[in-house]
Amino acid sequence: MRTVTLGPREILYEPDETPKFAHFLTSGVVSIVVSMANGASTEVGIWGREGLVESFHILGNARIPNRCIVQMESTALRMPFKELQKEFQESKELRDCILQGVQSQSAILGQLAGCNRLHEAEARLARWLLMVRDRNEADTFLITQEFLAIMLGSRRTTVTAAAGELQRKGLIRYSRGRIHISDPVGLENVACECYGTVRELYASFYCGAPALEANENVKSNLA
Ligand SMILES: [Zn+2]
Repeated sequence: MRTVTLGPREILYEPDETPKFAHFLTSGVVSIVVSMANGASTEVGIWGREGLVESFHILGNARIPNRCIVQMESTALRMPFKELQKEFQESKELRDCILQGVQSQSAILGQLAGCNRLHEAEARLARWLLMVRDRNEADTFLITQEFLAIMLGSRRTTVTAAAGELQRKGLIRYSRGRIHISDPVGLENVACECYGTVRELYASFYCGAPALEANENVKSNLA
């Protein structure tokens, strides 16, 4: 595997395409996005450094109708996808880890599908910011309102209003594409229940593995 830096908005795979490379993130966040014929998009999955970004593709030959977009500058270990496919067949240990990731990501996908339909923009924005914070392990990140709107499947004006409301409550600071979470606990109180569900899935990933033990943010969040 080679270490690579991934830039914001970089596309790791397009709908119905076999990825060229397999990525294991070592920092940062990528989003799995579904786009409709009229151009509207929303996020249905999110990966930090907990697993294989192309995990759905490795299971078989089904066409995956999603796009994968890098949210912010990230780093990853990368190898040719075909080589990983071969390893997936040959190594039970690797296969078990990847399958655990797929199971968890499938559960997150279902939760986000319900969330996008049933929960209000402000609660979803709070949920999303906390999910990114857990994976990015930082309270400040760069994100445009246009990109936030895509992630939340909402109009830009709706996202602007929701971000304004969170800022008014003193939970975040937002200016020129830079978001700072000033009150993560307060933000949790505003976030929909989906954050707790997704956080539990994230925290139980490879339960007891060193990667999670080292993640003080997640540990303190759970305390
Ligand atoms: Zn929700």
